[in-house]
Amino acid sequence: MRILVTNDDGIFAEGLWTLVRELRNVAQVVVVAPDRERSAIGTAVTLHRTLRAHRVKPVVPEVETYSVEGTPADSVILGLGKLAGDKVDLVVSGINQGSNLGDDVLISGTVGAALQGYLHGFPALAISVPPVDSLYLKNAAKLAALLAKKIESNGLPTNIFLNVNLPGLPLTKIEGIKITRPASKSHINTVEEGYRGRYKYYWLVRQERNKDMDEETDIRAIEQGNISITPLYNNLPNKPSPPIPDNLCSDLFQELQQYIK
Ligand code: MN
Repeated sequence: MRILVTNDDGIFAEGLWTLVRELRNVAQVVVVAPDRERSAIGTAVTLHRTLRAHRVKPVVPEVETYSVEGTPADSVILGLGKLAGDKVDLVVSGINQGSNLGDDVLISGTVGAALQGYLHGFPALAISVPPVDSLYLKNAAKLAALLAKKIESNGLPTNIFLNVNLPGLPLTKIEGIKITRPASKSHINTVEEGYRGRYKYYWLVRQERNKDMDEETDIRAIEQGNISITPLYNNLPNKPSPPIPDNLCSDLFQELQQYIK
């Protein structure tokens, strides 16, 4: 088995190399990751300039490692298209030091990278722990290795990829694993402002999450001390969207004609 590993915390992040150490026990690993931290860059892809990638000395010896002057999504596209060849069996993104839960999966660079694996037809998973828990990175890495082995023997349905989050707890305190759906909640919802000298600044801040959350959601699962595994998918072409209210569009074209005249 050959695994393409990436992240959004940058190529020298502790989470990435803790992950690589464990994945190496079950697979051959190629690392293709951004040369610096690109957290919260979501699905961004670089189209307006050329991309450079450098083969660099790995933190874990003998792991083929490329540093990309681009985003996590760029790294996966480049990894799958060129650097790792076409013999990749799984894309793993992480271990992110910062949970990726609720609506925030849409802005997560970690999830954005796994999404590219999925969109290119490869089994893919993103894996994250809370920001302060270097202690528990190893648990996450072991879980990723286990999942990789399971995906190797059983496959992963081609219509989903996985978003895995662990709570900031020792293994003995973790309740179990819950299959969840993303909570409809973003926690980057506050703008603070202040002055630095005479220049005003704004700062987008993470706020405390809403505690009253549906039992099936990822945020609730983590709050209750569970590991959360959320199947994510792109259902746009297959499922009808909720309707747009009639009064928004019914006379729109006639009104446009009047308006332009
Ligand atoms: Mn990150």
